[in-house]
Amino acid sequence: MFELEKLVRKNVLKLKPYSSARDEFQGTASVYLDANENPYPDSLYNRYPDPHQLKLKQRISKIKNIPVDQIFLGNGSDEPIDLLIRAFCEPGIDNVLIPQPTYGMYTVSSEINNVTIKTVKLTPDFDLDVAAIQQAVNINTKLIFLCSPNNPSGNLLSFEKVKQIISGFSGLVIVDEAYIDFKSYPGFLPLLNQYSNLVVLQTLSKAWGLAAIRLGMCFASKDIINVLNKIKPPYNISLLSQNAAVEGLQNIELKNVWVKEIILQREWLAEELTKINAIQKVYPSDANFLLVKISNAREVYNQLVSRGIIVRDRSNVILCDDCLRITVGTPFENQTLLKELNTI
Ligand SMILES: *Cc1c(COP(=O)(O)O)cnc(C)c1O
Repeated sequence: MFELEKLVRKNVLKLKPYSSARDEFQGTASVYLDANENPYPDSLYNRYPDPHQLKLKQRISKIKNIPVDQIFLGNGSDEPIDLLIRAFCEPGIDNVLIPQPTYGMYTVSSEINNVTIKTVKLTPDFDLDVAAIQQAVNINTKLIFLCSPNNPSGNLLSFEKVKQIISGFSGLVIVDEAYIDFKSYPGFLPLLNQYSNLVVLQTLSKAWGLAAIRLGMCFASKDIINVLNKIKPPYNISLLSQNAAVEGLQNIELKNVWVKEIILQREWLAEELTKINAIQKVYPSDANFLLVKISNAREVYNQLVSRGIIVRDRSNVILCDDCLRITVGTPFENQTLLKELNTI
């Protein structure tokens, strides 16, 4: 029931993409006079970078066990989120479905593109309401965004329910796995070839400690990746970022040490937070943050700010009344937070 050609916007299907100098000639040569670059200074950065980021994709391919032609890299995950909406949703006509509460960029990107948003509430324990989602979908629903582990709640969505949604939907299901490293669990990458309408997002911004370089990874079928490549800005990943990513990805062991430490701290912090009287609930987390329900959340937030500690106030978010989202920091940062919370 899933047909990519029918799903892609007609203008995108017809589009002849921009062909950069580095697309038109890809071998090695001794004299490059094709891209209007400055020949001086003859350094690392005077030339345009590889528009296809081949070296970086090869490294990611090895780590994730996904072929290079099923990988798209973006300027953060935010870029593939935006490109997916632009490739598949006709403004003013099509819609996307976003279970709430979740990461805000799916909504913002849809709104920027004048694409209607259908929302469905998650259950009180922040899992999917499959029946409600299937009921909300209509013929113009092109994308469903699922975030697992979910932000701001921190929990993994039920694996079976996500599979049910993917197999029962004729549009694309985007599973955002930004926090996948904080749970020993294979996630949806191994299912990529089983579902032609599945897109998986991951990022170097969290476990890999590279938020500043803006590197988001998008995995899908070759055909979906080709659509994204067709509409992306030609040189969307700078050479500074490509190099930093290649280097960062060499440190798998170090990443694993960080993840282990953060998970230990998360469990310790959760336990200590439950001892505080004003805290009514610490939600279970599969990520590097904790959602905490606390009396007078906004006031507590302001008090923390005045003491130089910034957490995320989520108290105005659906299903998150009086909730703060707290990132797990270093042992010292976590202790400082607890000390100040106790005095407040
Ligand atoms: C942090 C986060 C990201 C990462 O976005 P980048 O643009 O890659 O930094 C993606 N999705 C969710 C749900 C997040 O919380």
